Amino acid sequence: MDSLATKGLTLRSHTGVAYQFDPGALCLELLVTGGPGPYRRYEVLHEPADLTAWVDRSRLAPTPALKVSAAEVTDARRLRDALFRVVTARTRGEQDPPDDLEILNKAARHPALAPAITPDGQRQWAATHSGTHLLATVARDAIELLTGPFAHRVRTCAADDCHLIYVDTSRPGRRRWCSMEHCGNRHKVRALRARHHEEG
Ligand SMILES: [Zn+2]
Repeated sequence: MDSLATKGLTLRSHTGVAYQFDPGALCLELLVTGGPGPYRRYEVLHEPADLTAWVDRSRLAPTPALKVSAAEVTDARRLRDALFRVVTARTRGEQDPPDDLEILNKAARHPALAPAITPDGQRQWAATHSGTHLLATVARDAIELLTGPFAHRVRTCAADDCHLIYVDTSRPGRRRWCSMEHCGNRHKVRALRARHHEEG
């Protein structure tokens, strides 16, 4: 919900400095939990508590109450890896991998988290939900993104050593970095040093 201020995740650089990364969509927030191939070593989704911890960090607000099974954690990793490959293909202008679209579509067919409104006008969730409901919400979000007006604005951070993926929903559409305070700033510092070097 837009009214609930801070969107995005708090990440840490390899030197331990915290920074905010708003990938612009719920489904893209799942991609920071690991991924296929070389990203396997960053895996953080091992057990149900890991998935609920991610939900707590995510832009889902308020945080939904969940009952997640071990099998649903496996489903979450499968969905994330499929989404990772689809989105990466998008950033390279390649075809969506059909098997991965099928994983996405299958997850989206389940009922999603049900929102509710309280008598005093507050938003909440209708019940305690399963991991499958959660993944349906994420998969539907991905389908909205990939078929929506910003589908062509899914990008990888412009820093060579950064693999974070975001959707640029800004009006001018010139976002280049995962985060201005992280990669944007590192770039600025490097550019400045290069200039000093040339001048000196
Ligand atoms: Zn970056």
